[in-house]
Amino acid sequence: MACGLTGTGTGTGTCGSSCYKDNNDGIEDSTNTFSPPSSTTLLPHMKLCYKCKEEEVINSTGGLCGICFRNSLFAKFKQSITTHDLISSTDNILIAFSGGPSSRVVLEFVHEIQQKAQKNSDASRDKLYPVFGVGVAFIDESAVTSIASDDLDNAMQDLRLIVSSLALPTKELHIVPIQSIFSTDLKDGRNKLNELLDTVNDVTGKEDLLCHLRMLCLQKIAFENKYNKLVLGSCTSRIACHVLSAAVKFEDLGCA
Ligand SMILES: [Zn+2]
Repeated sequence: MACGLTGTGTGTGTCGSSCYKDNNDGIEDSTNTFSPPSSTTLLPHMKLCYKCKEEEVINSTGGLCGICFRNSLFAKFKQSITTHDLISSTDNILIAFSGGPSSRVVLEFVHEIQQKAQKNSDASRDKLYPVFGVGVAFIDESAVTSIASDDLDNAMQDLRLIVSSLALPTKELHIVPIQSIFSTDLKDGRNKLNELLDTVNDVTGKEDLLCHLRMLCLQKIAFENKYNKLVLGSCTSRIACHVLSAAVKFEDLGCA
């Protein structure tokens, strides 16, 4: 999982010198947040987590149990944020949330960092230390997909529940139809969107166009709601896929 954090043009955009750091920054934070797992009855075929040596290893974690894997991932995420000064205390961050595992992890981790910043602020004597803001954006692409309305309603309900169940500070949720970048009249916007997509014949081209429109929609939300940074939760496999496909297209165009 990787964090993609970009400026939106409404603020600093790139890393600022006043990057948020609390007193517990660094990879060692994983040990601070680690809670001793409950003891597990191990069967002979089970392998123990190499870190806590108490819980069973889960697949594809490199020999870690669920708790240690989560702590390790969070420590790497936080280290990346602090090393590259990606978040400052005055930032207002918009998280692009698809409901998938990567953006869910980003939402949870950014929320955890924000909570720690809030606690530090509350513990300060004058309580004036600013805490960065967080909002969540979901792009509704039902205009171009064949999802059933019941499924969409359930997904929206789950989405609202996930965001509202996060502890304070409150995070505003923006659910925006993708066709809104064409018109405030959603029916008109839907027609224009489909007309544009119909001009592209190949599947990959349609996906690329949709991805571009999704980014435009996210930037529009950020601009209209005064967010100065946009966070994308992209898994490393997805990033690798983008790099490879871009390289192949570049070659196809005779640019290599
Ligand atoms: Zn463990």
